Amino acid sequence: QTPCVVIAGRPNVGKSTLFNRLVGRRQAIVSDMPGVTRDYKEGEARLGGRLIRIVDTAGLEEAAPDTVFGRMRASSETAIGQADLILFCIDARAGVTPADRHFAQFLRRQNRPVLLIANKAEGSAAQTEVYESFALGLGTPLAVSAEHGEGLSHLMREIADRL
Ligand code: GDP
Ligand code: MG
Repeated sequence: QTPCVVIAGRPNVGKSTLFNRLVGRRQAIVSDMPGVTRDYKEGEARLGGRLIRIVDTAGLEEAAPDTVFGRMRASSETAIGQADLILFCIDARAGVTPADRHFAQFLRRQNRPVLLIANKAEGSAAQTEVYESFALGLGTPLAVSAEHGEGLSHLMREIADRL
């Protein structure tokens, strides 16, 4: 069976940008508006000669279940429940936010492998914030820039090693 990698995190951290990088085609909607990905998008990527399924989720925002945001959250949680590996993304420029801490706590309870991604870390930007994200308790953060294509080959090797 094809391994499934799910990209998760609060809105606007760059999940869809990362998805597009990994899948190599523009299949997800990228936007400056937080939470614009309506549902979840799926694509395929080839890592180290293996085909894997990549899922881009909408943000796991706090919302009542009977709202649009609540339904987005429910579909994100369903995707996470099927993941062989979760790429939990934070915005290294914004640093660790209360929403990131909340989702990290949720993810730790899932008992699934998680790779912590500190995105928007182009150049040597945001090193302090990358270091601070150790405190989320999800292991060593991997600094990448999805937009500028930095750290991605290292990320792909890390993903392949965990599947
Ligand atoms: P999502 O809501 O988590 O799916 O985030 P998006 O992929 O839609 O990206 C949100 C915003 O962050 C967009 O304006 C992206 O261009 C921007 N962005 C994504 N990745 C990076 C990055 O590596 N560096 C910087 N500076 N901006 C990024
Ligand atoms: Mg998105």
